[in-house]
Amino acid sequence: MFRIALIPGDGIGPDIIKQAVKVMKSLEKPGEIEFEFTEVLAGGAAIDKTGHPLPQESLDICLQSDAVLLGAVGGPKWDTLPGDLRPEQALLGLRKALGVFANLRPAVLFPQLKNASPLKEDIIGDGIDVLVVRELIGGIYFGKRGREGDTAYDTESYSVPEVERIARVAFDTARKRRHKVTSVDKANILESSRLWRETVTRIAKDYPDIELNHLYVDNCAMQLIRDPHQFDVIVTSNMFGDILSDEASMLVGSLGMLPSASLGNTKRGFYEPIHGSAPDIAGQDKANPLATILSVAMMLRYSFDLTREADDIEQAVAKVLEDGYRTADIMEPGMKLVGTERMGDLVVEYLKCS
Ligand code: NAD
Repeated sequence: MFRIALIPGDGIGPDIIKQAVKVMKSLEKPGEIEFEFTEVLAGGAAIDKTGHPLPQESLDICLQSDAVLLGAVGGPKWDTLPGDLRPEQALLGLRKALGVFANLRPAVLFPQLKNASPLKEDIIGDGIDVLVVRELIGGIYFGKRGREGDTAYDTESYSVPEVERIARVAFDTARKRRHKVTSVDKANILESSRLWRETVTRIAKDYPDIELNHLYVDNCAMQLIRDPHQFDVIVTSNMFGDILSDEASMLVGSLGMLPSASLGNTKRGFYEPIHGSAPDIAGQDKANPLATILSVAMMLRYSFDLTREADDIEQAVAKVLEDGYRTADIMEPGMKLVGTERMGDLVVEYLKCS
């Protein structure tokens, strides 16, 4: 029995989580694959009910579960609240409490959605498949910061163990993919980057089957546009990863297609689509649920070792697209427009045929 804490959250969150649950339920096999879902309050919905974005009870349930699946949090209704009481605090609090230090963001361009990419067709080729592994709970976002007179400062700092553990996640993940890791830093300038590079190079000796190369972050930003096919897994610090993963996600077009996983030292992971709560289309059966459904595939692969079922979900999504079904955000002339519910149903139907 896999225990999953579900956080529908705000805006389109409940719409898309419903589809993800539908897909997981369709995979259940009594005595073999069973899921237990516990719905948890977080974000704006939690503020409205309890006054706090991440109530202790919600946190406790997440800590007792095998995986956490989040829709999205936030919206204009809560935008005027002070920083520490805003819905987004729930995300930071959860990541920290769950100890998830590695954020995995695949940028996959399904060949069926080639037109969604801003890149030229000859650069896209047969599609794009890059995985950014971003260090999530260290570096400049968590370093010493302050103001002195008219000066402000933030500190980038990494320890050897922090780099070792993220490097291992990258190498282990590359083993399940195309066996290549690109470590991204700014070692020509930053001391913390020099330590990063030394450490990744040393850890690579434990992975002789993986090809490692290093790139400076400015060069990597260019190369992602010039020739994304040279990349398999990119591993980098918190801030560089924040920027590069957004860049990589734009290469593949729609926000509604992109999943993510955040992992720590245990199998328990935190899974969410990369988009926000899209308040403009909430509750209108317009949201694309595929990023959340693909996040479920990552959950099955990384937290539950259900590799076959994860592959099946990804293939079902590809087939639904191949047969021309599109939500509004990825709609093109000649395709069949469907809503959130129908898209969820289609993935379930195609899964049953796999
Ligand atoms: P957004 O990602 O919610 O929306 C940007 C645009 O993309 C909108 O036009 C929206 O309709 C569209 N879009 C996003 N997801 C879609 C989907 N699945 N299907 C179809 N269209 C989709 O970003 P935003 O508008 O900047 O933020 C809205 C709220 O979400 C804010 O309160 C923000 O703080 C919050 N947010 C939350 C998360 C999270 O929960 N992880 C991440 C980013 C933003």
